[in-house]
Amino acid sequence: MFTCTTHSPEETAGLACKVGQKIREGTVLCLEGDLGAGKTLFVRSLARTLGAEGEITSPTFNLMNVYEGICPIFHFDLYRLETEEELEDIGFYEYTEEPEGIVLIEWPDKFPEEMPEDYVLVHFGKVQGREQERQLTFGCHGGRHQGFLKELEEIVKHG
Ligand code: ADP
Ligand code: MG
Repeated sequence: MFTCTTHSPEETAGLACKVGQKIREGTVLCLEGDLGAGKTLFVRSLARTLGAEGEITSPTFNLMNVYEGICPIFHFDLYRLETEEELEDIGFYEYTEEPEGIVLIEWPDKFPEEMPEDYVLVHFGKVQGREQERQLTFGCHGGRHQGFLKELEEIVKHG
């Protein structure tokens, strides 16, 4: 697990770009944090790095967006969902259990029990009194992404 602080939206986008350069197909990445913390901004920059064009916004109402980059990118926002049946209805488990492409999930904390066994977690924390500052904590759940996380820490901290 490691944490880094960004001081502007541009810095957060830069960090997402680095993640985009390292992320592998088949990865599920969960983004946790309050409204306005920077989750969608991070997704946008990551998806752009992977070659996605067109609009990239929170799928708050349509629940999932798909972008075509160097591989398919599935972008979920679970904020408005209430039950596991709804997850099933949108095909959540098919996308997350053996992911083809890259799966990005905002508000995973709405359904902690329903996340796959292995995923990378980024927690976005706002810093009180500092509008433009965010603390991003990277961790992983399950053993599969330990190596990826180490690599990420290396390029994030040492360029
Ligand atoms: P979320 O998806 O978490 O609700 P968004 O990505 O939609 O949040 O919005 C984040 C907002 O916070 C944007 O308006 C962005 O400009 C602003 N912001 C300010 N500082 C930062 C920062 N360091 N990192 C990310 N976003 C920031
Ligand atoms: Mg969002």
